[in-house]
Amino acid sequence: MIDLHCHLDLYKDPLSLLPKVEQYCDFVLAVTTSPRAWEITSKYFSGVDCIHTAIGLHPELVKERSVEREILFANMPNVKFVGEVGIDGTKANITSLNLQKEVFGEIVQKSEQCGGKIFSIHSRNATTLVLDVLEKYSIQSTSVLHWFSGTVKELDRAISLGCWFSINTSMLSSKKGIELISRMPKKFVLPETDGPFITKLGVPLMPWETNDIIRQFSDLHCIDETDANSVMRDNLSRLLAQGQV
Ligand code: MN
Repeated sequence: MIDLHCHLDLYKDPLSLLPKVEQYCDFVLAVTTSPRAWEITSKYFSGVDCIHTAIGLHPELVKERSVEREILFANMPNVKFVGEVGIDGTKANITSLNLQKEVFGEIVQKSEQCGGKIFSIHSRNATTLVLDVLEKYSIQSTSVLHWFSGTVKELDRAISLGCWFSINTSMLSSKKGIELISRMPKKFVLPETDGPFITKLGVPLMPWETNDIIRQFSDLHCIDETDANSVMRDNLSRLLAQGQV
């Protein structure tokens, strides 16, 4: 099982989940929402080989925690994965929009100075703004757009910029999400749970519960589940060849 965007540190008792993660998962990208959280989380998860902890600064937290960007920049040379980062253009975060653009732009530029990183990017209501930053600064980095929710036109632009996409069950439960996913090139798609925020029957999805995504993805592309799984495995290994440490 592959989970390319999971807030493993935000489940009720993350350490109790580790044995199952180790047993069922091949790869989990444990994204974090602040550099301070990353400092602690990356230590806790460091003993589990399949868990890779990304250093992040969630756009919704940029307003309160922008000082922590210094921690992120200081650690940039030593990490391969950066996320969750990006821009959120919803009403609640509109007052910090300029600061969000500034911080995200700096993060991408610092990543480039370190040879390029792999990003897990939030772009809700801000797809064009995110793509503007990537177009301007990202050359060697690889961007995975998590929970893409832009327009078809924005999707085409993201594809032409070389973006990847991590897809989840919420996207697959709406007509718009399904349409977008069916237009994404198979070679640039990976599954994500976005747990514990995405739930199934009221219970947070676990990082090993990506079967529903694989099944629907295989239906969309008229391939069987075994083939869908091997597409995902190939994609993961191509993605992991990116990003300097
Ligand atoms: Mn998330």
